[in-house]
Amino acid sequence: MRFDRKRVLVTGGAGFLGSHLCERLVGLGHDVICLDNFMTGTKDNVAGLLGNSHFEVLRHDVTFPLYTEVDEIYNLACPASPVHYQFDPVQTTKTSVMGAINMLGLAKRTHARILQASTSEVYGDPTVHPQREDYRGNVNPLGPRACYDEGKRCAETLFFDYYRQHHVDIKVVRIFNTYGPRMSPNDGRVVSNFIVQALRGEDITLYGDGSQTRAFCYVDDLISGLVGMMQTPKDTTGPVNLGNPHEIPVRELAERIIRLTDSSSKIVFRPLPVDDPLQRCPDIGLAHNLLDWQPRVALDAGLHRTIDYFRASLGLRLSALTA
Ligand code: NAD
Ligand code: UDP
Ligand code: UDP
Repeated sequence: MRFDRKRVLVTGGAGFLGSHLCERLVGLGHDVICLDNFMTGTKDNVAGLLGNSHFEVLRHDVTFPLYTEVDEIYNLACPASPVHYQFDPVQTTKTSVMGAINMLGLAKRTHARILQASTSEVYGDPTVHPQREDYRGNVNPLGPRACYDEGKRCAETLFFDYYRQHHVDIKVVRIFNTYGPRMSPNDGRVVSNFIVQALRGEDITLYGDGSQTRAFCYVDDLISGLVGMMQTPKDTTGPVNLGNPHEIPVRELAERIIRLTDSSSKIVFRPLPVDDPLQRCPDIGLAHNLLDWQPRVALDAGLHRTIDYFRASLGLRLSALTA
């Protein structure tokens, strides 16, 4: 079979997930344009790809139009950590909504296939467990998380309206908590916070009593799901949940990370943020049926790899300071 090299645009390509996706796509032989405004992403994340003739970086903000020729678009541009997306909530909504309009306009003009990185946050603080794609969610439209949740919900609406009205070839995936190497150490999300705190011997900040649950997916598994979804037939639009259905209380995550890092850190309790979902876990039956996809990396194995990454990158930073 002849290999079909594609020109693939990855928005948010210098972020945590985006950089892994760029790496995977270059590895598959595609020509990749990594678009990013470096709000939360870094050039370091894609440093390993610079110099590869099938890879280029474009500094651009998705809230502005972009005219280029592409075959596929993965739209990942958007801060994902609650700390980051609440820092400039108006920009977060603009990124989701105007970014979706611009990238859908680009897809419409170029007849490119476009995949939207949506989120489990479209389910808000869910009242149905585990969450299936037909659950409509429980989002507070006025709270501090709304800029992200409602922005992503509106982006989904735009995707399905461009599909129905303009026949744009769309794919929508709802990503649940994903972790792994290249999360930013000051990202504010739970896995990076706990690992960095444990490695530094600092207190582990558990919000609330730690009984709230999440289900954590290792980055390599998630990237396989994104690439698999992009390859589905045109009538497979989604939305499709992607995540690991192994649900645990956040307190248990803290205890595991202390054990795996052999840390002397103590758990301290901090107030639960407003609208923090109490329970979240994906039903991945649809992804399994449509993509033959399921996560393969168990939590401890994924945490080990992530801990190794932070150990190395924090060590490098310390030696850079003392050099
Ligand atoms: P991240 O913050 O590491 O990456 C986001 C990237 O988008 C960054 O490189 C940032 O600089 C860039 N960006 C932000 N605003 C932009 C703009 N206006 N124009 C251009 N670039 C912009 O986060 P991530 O975890 O890699 O998340 C990537 C995507 O996946 C996001 O859309 C997020 O909503 C979605 N997602 C992630 C998770 C997760 O657990 N990691 C869960 C659900 C959804
Ligand atoms: N757009 C873009 N690149 C393109 C085509 C469109 O960035 O190649 C943007 C442009 O800002 C436009 C938006 O996408 O306003 C939506 O495009 P569409 O064709 O749906 O609507 P228009 O506003 O052009 O009528
Ligand atoms: N959390 C915590 N301590 C931290 C960071 C987060 O206990 O230092 C909790 C947070 O309150 C939430 C869960 O961990 O219940 C996951 O938070 P994260 O910000 O990673 O993502 P979310 O799933 O809330 O978007």
